[in-house]
Amino acid sequence: MAQEYDIVLIGAGPAGLAAGLYAARARRKTILLERDVTGGQIALTSVVENYPGFESINGFDLAQAMQQQAEKYGLEMGYAEVAALEPQGSLHLVKTTEGDYLAKAVIITGGADYNRLGVPGEERLTGRGVSYCATCDAAFFKDQEVAVVGGGDAAMDEGLFVTRYASKVYVIHRRDQLRASKILQERAFANPKMEFIWNTLVTEIMGEEAVTGLRLKNVVTGEESTLPVAAVFIFIGLSPNTGYLKGRLPMDEGGHIFVNEWMETSIPGVFAAGDIRANSARQVVSAAGDGATAAIKADHYITDHFDAKEPGT
Ligand SMILES: Cc1cc2nc3c(=O)[nH]c(=O)nc-3n(C[C@H](O)[C@H](O)[C@H](O)COP(=O)(O)OP(=O)(O)OC[C@H]3O[C@@H](n4cnc5c(N)ncnc54)[C@H](O)[C@@H]3O)c2cc1C
Repeated sequence: MAQEYDIVLIGAGPAGLAAGLYAARARRKTILLERDVTGGQIALTSVVENYPGFESINGFDLAQAMQQQAEKYGLEMGYAEVAALEPQGSLHLVKTTEGDYLAKAVIITGGADYNRLGVPGEERLTGRGVSYCATCDAAFFKDQEVAVVGGGDAAMDEGLFVTRYASKVYVIHRRDQLRASKILQERAFANPKMEFIWNTLVTEIMGEEAVTGLRLKNVVTGEESTLPVAAVFIFIGLSPNTGYLKGRLPMDEGGHIFVNEWMETSIPGVFAAGDIRANSARQVVSAAGDGATAAIKADHYITDHFDAKEPGT
């Protein structure tokens, strides 16, 4: 038997947590389903400096505070991976690894996952020197030489964090300039532990039991080389978690869900908010704003389509 809720939220990042706060405060019976840990991408972020009201806060702590605030108003948390979303009359059936849920409205806040390099050695050595989370793993490589792959905000932010532990951080980037924001670029270039290797791809991660080095290729000269490092931190972008929704909702070519300004998808009663939607600013504050907008509209949707029809209302 599927459990019934007014609103089911899929994914406990900033968008889902903000939606949960608003939905619970609207007195809607709401559950937030999460397959992993609360916080999504920020759970792995060492420092957030651009969420209004906090000059500097650890991402995990910010997420915990968001969850506690929403739970105070009655938000329920459920730990399961959502595998399918199907219509069931005027309701929506949310199928998960731990059972099914029926909802009057669904808000999809599944965000995005790290992209992999897709080179030999990467999968085998993940957790043995291959990492997608500096906050989690940097401390294991104290006084050792490591590499960071990528040229965006995440690569610089996490690379700077790694310099607290490593003796040297090589930043390997496939272009000749960074995409990261100017402030992070300035900090990275000013850090004496960071050394930049431009126009270069990682073609293999070497090591038997643990990472011992990288095989590199210069995309301009074609020259191949090896770089001995004890770890490689990979930050080469993210892909939206919309695999189970393919064919169900219109998406852009990257797999982000199209919504209108109220976060409504093409299916009535189904909303998408945060990094998972097309044209998102991909920030904590914008994800939280999207979540709030979606929850307000989901509340109105339930009022219009269900409350008015229930006897005694
Ligand atoms: C390293 C790094 C540093 C960053 N630093 C900053 C910063 O300083 N400031 C800033 O504003 N932004 C920063 N960002 C971006 C910010 O973290 C994201 O924009 C924000 O987290 C997006 O929130 P979200 O709720 O949309 O998605 P996410 O944070 O991606 O959360 C989505 C959640 O949904 C869950 N989920 C996905 N699919 C399913 C499913 N099928 N079933 C159940 N659960 C599911 C995931 O496990 C995840 O917990 C950073 C991102 C990274 C990677």
